[in-house]
Amino acid sequence: RASGLPAGKTLEDFDFDHQPTARTPIQALASGAWLTEHRNVVLLGPPGTGKTHLAAALAVTAARQGHRVLFATASEWVTRLSEAHQRGRLDAELTRLRRYPLIAVDEVGYLPFAQDAANLFFQLVSSRYEHASLILTSNLPFSSWAGVFGDQVVAAAMIDRIVHHADVIPLKGASYRLRDRGIDTLPS
Ligand code: ADP
Ligand code: MG
Repeated sequence: RASGLPAGKTLEDFDFDHQPTARTPIQALASGAWLTEHRNVVLLGPPGTGKTHLAAALAVTAARQGHRVLFATASEWVTRLSEAHQRGRLDAELTRLRRYPLIAVDEVGYLPFAQDAANLFFQLVSSRYEHASLILTSNLPFSSWAGVFGDQVVAAAMIDRIVHHADVIPLKGASYRLRDRGIDTLPS
């Protein structure tokens, strides 16, 4: 898929009974108003709590509303920006990406960034600040992002821009993947 969106992840097939506190904030975002306001969404929580599913579903919702969207992992974004940087085209690429009202960055925190990667990612966040929306997902609380980006100053400046106009939605509980496999259910 050109958009990078994982297939088959929609709001209709998300079971909010498994993630009840997310229901109200996610349903409010389904209107798409946050995109025209250039706001961000951050989904935080442990593995299997539905971060990727909800990020994809909000991006699908935005696409259905006529917005161009791109979806990739944080590592994929860094690779893409670093290729543009090597060609001397970083600013052109950031400008081009701003024409997408929504970019989803999945899995911030699974892999630590080297310093140049952290700087490139910071430039992506800065270039979109108050111009175009981001959805980010992370298994780590903001307090641990300094470790991901290897630099407390860069992490703080980035978090400041991300959360200034954002809904931060914590996801909780056991992994839905384990539930799928019946691990938390007793045999009848
Ligand atoms: P995370 O990104 O937080 O690790 P995922 O979004 O990848 O978790 O969810 C793991 C799997 O479980 C995916 O196949 C996802 O579609 C499914 N899933 C997670 N939470 C729910 C839910 N509440 N309702 C329906 N499917 C879910
Ligand atoms: Mg995920």
